[in-house]
Amino acid sequence: MTREDFIQRRDAFIHVSRRVDIAATIVFTGLLISLFFLDHHLNALRSSAILFAAFCSHYFFARWWKQQARRRGLACPACAKLLTMTAGQITVATGRCGHCGAKVFDS
Ligand SMILES: [Zn+2]
Repeated sequence: MTREDFIQRRDAFIHVSRRVDIAATIVFTGLLISLFFLDHHLNALRSSAILFAAFCSHYFFARWWKQQARRRGLACPACAKLLTMTAGQITVATGRCGHCGAKVFDS
């Protein structure tokens, strides 16, 4: 993978994940707000179910996010850690993995 390929994949990943992040935030916040306002009318079991659903939505988003990054090749070929966020910036700047320092780009 070249530096340009990496930047292109990373930017596409950021674009998609921002949209999904907004949707996940709306779902998570909506579930928490509904729990807050409906708590007087709900029994403990239903309240717990809503809270559980809110945390599940967060868990599945985080899982989806990691899968998408790996599918787009945003993982180190040596240590397999994700090259997103700060590690991705280090990779773009140096051509090396932000975690282990291994060479990431072909040229
Ligand atoms: Zn690495």
